Amino acid sequence: MTKRDYYEILGLDRKASENEIKKNYRKLAMKYHPDKNQGDKEAEEKFKEASEAYEVLRDPEKREIYDRYGHDGLRGTGFRGFSGFEDIFSSFGDIFEDVFGFGTGRRRSRTAAQQGADLRYDMSISFMDAAFGKSTEIEIEKFVKCWECDGTGATPGTVSEICPRCGGRGQITQTSGFFNISTTCPQCRGEGRIIKNPCHVCQGTGSAKTVKTVHLKIPPGVNTGSRLRLSGEGEEGKFGGPNGDLYVFIYVEPHEFFKREDDDILCEIPISITQAALGASIEVPTIEGAEKVKISKGTQNGKLFRLRGKGVPHLRGFGRGDQIVQVLVKIPTSLNKKQEKLLKEFAGLAGE
Ligand SMILES: [Zn+2]
Ligand SMILES: [Zn+2]
Repeated sequence: MTKRDYYEILGLDRKASENEIKKNYRKLAMKYHPDKNQGDKEAEEKFKEASEAYEVLRDPEKREIYDRYGHDGLRGTGFRGFSGFEDIFSSFGDIFEDVFGFGTGRRRSRTAAQQGADLRYDMSISFMDAAFGKSTEIEIEKFVKCWECDGTGATPGTVSEICPRCGGRGQITQTSGFFNISTTCPQCRGEGRIIKNPCHVCQGTGSAKTVKTVHLKIPPGVNTGSRLRLSGEGEEGKFGGPNGDLYVFIYVEPHEFFKREDDDILCEIPISITQAALGASIEVPTIEGAEKVKISKGTQNGKLFRLRGKGVPHLRGFGRGDQIVQVLVKIPTSLNKKQEKLLKEFAGLAGE
């Protein structure tokens, strides 16, 4: 049996573009599709013939061999064409999908367990609460199973009905030759049931928004950016799935006197020139009350004193940060007569 020229089969000239090849094949595939020509042997042959031509011409490598050496050249590479329809459909499935307009939308199983969504709550706390921790309550808005309809979505006393379109399966199947394509039922959107009288609280969704009070224990040592996780306090899971989690994001408000650097606390303390020069014992505020600090003789402006373990507790692990005190020597801006006289004497003694 002599084989026809592939270009001739598809009605193309030898310079045809990829697109033209696809377009013409699609036309022929439509025309000779076995579903439209049941039992027609000739159409079947034409369908196979066109498919084989397309198989070769859409593939640049095979097309080149065919252009140079013809059918014999291809046979030499082991090319045998298609064994049957299924072979064709599995190779060109995408084209037929296109042609017949079937989507392949996948439907999630309506009874599969779904985890609830995580929730975020942003919280400002004071400097001291961050240092010492705090027990508090917060109010979270979240969706829960509707209390009015118990999650069914139907007005109490009524029931949802089995979807007439899909018979409750949630999917409809279209058959075309070798294809069985299932798509989500457009009437019930895959739920399988239709609610005739939607619940007025949840509008038929089965879940409703509520405000829930959650007890929160803030551990000592949190800082801006700390994130507390409350397991299971997020949105409710569906169909037996676990609840989501609640994440509390902490923001620590600034303090008028203390500054925080990780777990260390920084502060500035003014001292007089005589305290700096002669040395002194001063009281420094810490987060746990006043603390005595010894200023040594001849302390320079800006000197740092470290109070070990007077900072913020480490959030993870034991111990605390330090408090770092910076002294600022205050130069007097107004002097009375006597002070001025004494300072002049001092200057004289210092040889100025
Ligand atoms: Zn349906
Ligand atoms: Zn409801």
